Amino acid sequence: MGGLKGLAMMMVAMLTTGLEKGWAMQFDEFTLDNGLRVVVVPDTRVPVVTHSVWYNVGAMDEKPGKTGLAHMTEHLMFKGTPRYPAGEMDKIVQRKGGVQNAFTSYDFTAYFQKVPVGELPTMLDLESDRMVNLHLTDEIFQPERKVVAEERKLTTDSDPSDRFFEQVLRRHYSAHTYGHPIIGWGEDIAGYTKDDALDWYRTHYAPNNATLVMVGDMNAAQLKPLLETTYGRVARVDHVVSRTQTVEPARTKPLEFVAMDAQVKVPVWHTLYRAPSAFQGVAGAAVKDGDATALWVLAEILGGSDTSRLHKALVLDGQLADEATSSYDAVRAGETTFDISVQPKDGVTLDRIGPAVAKVLAMLLADGVTDAELKRAKTTLLADETYARDDSFTSMYRVGMWLTAGGDMADFNRWQDELAALTTADVNRVAKLVLAEQGRTLAILVGKKAQLGALQVNLTLPTVAATTTAH
Ligand SMILES: [Zn+2]
Repeated sequence: MGGLKGLAMMMVAMLTTGLEKGWAMQFDEFTLDNGLRVVVVPDTRVPVVTHSVWYNVGAMDEKPGKTGLAHMTEHLMFKGTPRYPAGEMDKIVQRKGGVQNAFTSYDFTAYFQKVPVGELPTMLDLESDRMVNLHLTDEIFQPERKVVAEERKLTTDSDPSDRFFEQVLRRHYSAHTYGHPIIGWGEDIAGYTKDDALDWYRTHYAPNNATLVMVGDMNAAQLKPLLETTYGRVARVDHVVSRTQTVEPARTKPLEFVAMDAQVKVPVWHTLYRAPSAFQGVAGAAVKDGDATALWVLAEILGGSDTSRLHKALVLDGQLADEATSSYDAVRAGETTFDISVQPKDGVTLDRIGPAVAKVLAMLLADGVTDAELKRAKTTLLADETYARDDSFTSMYRVGMWLTAGGDMADFNRWQDELAALTTADVNRVAKLVLAEQGRTLAILVGKKAQLGALQVNLTLPTVAATTTAH
């Protein structure tokens, strides 16, 4: 263990030296006449390319009663076009030695293929074809709707902590659509029609509502002629609906939810604090440049590692928990959360966790973070980011997330300068801003009453019909 850790430290030092010379992601960016934005990140180390298309639409754009349509549409995108019937695209990608997949989140729906660079023209042809020519009938739609209903039963409905967090999030976000589950509520999935999906597809799938992100062994000059004969032929759609967000109103009181579910094996203690993302402040407030970077550092100092304050206080010194961490998700179109999560040790009642965490936070807010903590966090985060960008898939993912959340490429490398310039005063200021009592949502879930100690259950979870054989 010691040896490995030593090696990791040495590599961190080497990387930091490299980064001081101005390391940043290199890219080309241009827009086709039909409005399709293209970002090319050249990476010549292997003759492979990751091709992806990101639509500026996700679960956050869904209407109540039709939740999950973004994800449903993602499924339908594999159901074929007149030129490439169902299953054909998968076969072609496989035959060409590639892999493909898709993902849906709150802010985006994205599709990607990773292939040998010579196969890129075929991928451009396939992906641009299904941007506009999806073939959908009830015979295709209804069985796939059942697949999605089953997916929900096997994932969220079968997992007690997923079921719980779904209920907590819908209360934490009382107005904002981040309170919708990405997969959709079960009753909404049951009610979708083919026309719901077609409307969604026609309204949001368009070159002027999408970004191509390519990472690999090619450059913009090689790519442009290939794009003209593929994506370039797809017409701009004038009725594309641009994103609007409901502002989550300010709160005066914290929210606390304590629930019990007999299926829970490991109790949950989790706190969400309302926090600004890189693109939107809490309750519609403007975002201050650098705040997201400061919160990222705060999460590292508070609970990002085994040397963090929460780990020391709850795991090492207090012997209350097996894990105590904090995390922050900056890349969101809307306001986001700063999270603290504790996994209590077996036999420790949950009423003991809150006061222990509160003590750590009170000390942090009173005395602030130290220079040594800030320096260590900067080094770690810089190294983590460098490793992450070394992988073409991760680079593609970061760029796509950034752009669909509302960023632009001119700002993509900005965090490095912000990180370098960050002071302890910046971190202390965002800590006071975010770790405020009224923005807090506490979520506790146990399997047995005895695990609660002095706490009382105050949230009744919806019962879910058994979906697998009881055991
Ligand atoms: Zn799915």
